[in-house]
Amino acid sequence: MYNLAVFGNPIAHSLSPTIHAEFAQQTGIEVNYDKILAPIDGFNHKAQQFIDEGATGFNITVPFKLDAYNFATKLTLNAKTAGAVNTIKVEGSELVGENTDGIGLVNDLVNNLGVNLKDKTILILGAGGATQGILLPLLKENPKRVMIANRTASKAQQLQQDFAQYGNTCGFGLEKIKNEPVDVIINATSASLDGKMPNIANGCADGAICYDLMYGKQTPFMDWAKANNASMIVDGLGMLVEQAASSFEFWTGKKPNTQKVMENLRR
Ligand code: NDP
Repeated sequence: MYNLAVFGNPIAHSLSPTIHAEFAQQTGIEVNYDKILAPIDGFNHKAQQFIDEGATGFNITVPFKLDAYNFATKLTLNAKTAGAVNTIKVEGSELVGENTDGIGLVNDLVNNLGVNLKDKTILILGAGGATQGILLPLLKENPKRVMIANRTASKAQQLQQDFAQYGNTCGFGLEKIKNEPVDVIINATSASLDGKMPNIANGCADGAICYDLMYGKQTPFMDWAKANNASMIVDGLGMLVEQAASSFEFWTGKKPNTQKVMENLRR
């Protein structure tokens, strides 16, 4: 029996138990997957309690990904570069920290949506935790260039420096986005959560694949993409399911089928 859970605050809304229950059914692996609400300053205590009760592993969501990064005793390269952990596997006395968010995004783009990222120009809006988590997996696909545009330009410039060793990156302020088409635009700002759209040049969306990391509703970014002739407009539900599938594989070694789960959630 795999004893799993997701930690967050809030956590009631989490779709992870539903997703992992479907993966368990598909693969025939026995899984118990709970939602655990941890106090804002009490992640370590709750996580340790779960480990003492025989946890096999767990997911970590907002706002504990940095706590989990510090709590892990060993980190994968993905987790190190992301500076955050969303998956922990208990391996004897080691707590192995991984970050599957970026792998989830790339798997959704490449495998589910058929988008080849090689030699493409990618524009990421935002330079927060989500951007830091997706940069390495995106750069591993050998795009021509990954541009990071952020409201606070210095954060984008910092990410450019941190990731320069992994590929062609550049970081600048949102106002510097040119009024000319790019291949892929990823909205990794939290503006959608507030019902807002970063104020950027419209021409960059012409013919582009526009992906909002947020899921669950039509966002102003998706409306903007439609109004400006994007070729494909997608929300982050596929990324959510794919990051869960990567976590499931990290714990069990079995790769679940994500298509049916996505269809069920969309319904
Ligand atoms: P952070 O708080 O770390 O960063 C927020 C970013 O958004 C910053 O770059 C900030 O700019 C920018 N921003 C916020 N409001 C605006 C605005 N009105 N206009 C322009 N820029 C704005 O958040 P995360 O990186 O953790 O999360 C970003 C999004 O990604 C969230 O919507 C989250 O739900 C989603 N996400 C989805 C996942 C999935 O599985 N689908 C997984 C992980 C995240 P500044 O630096 O100037 O403040």
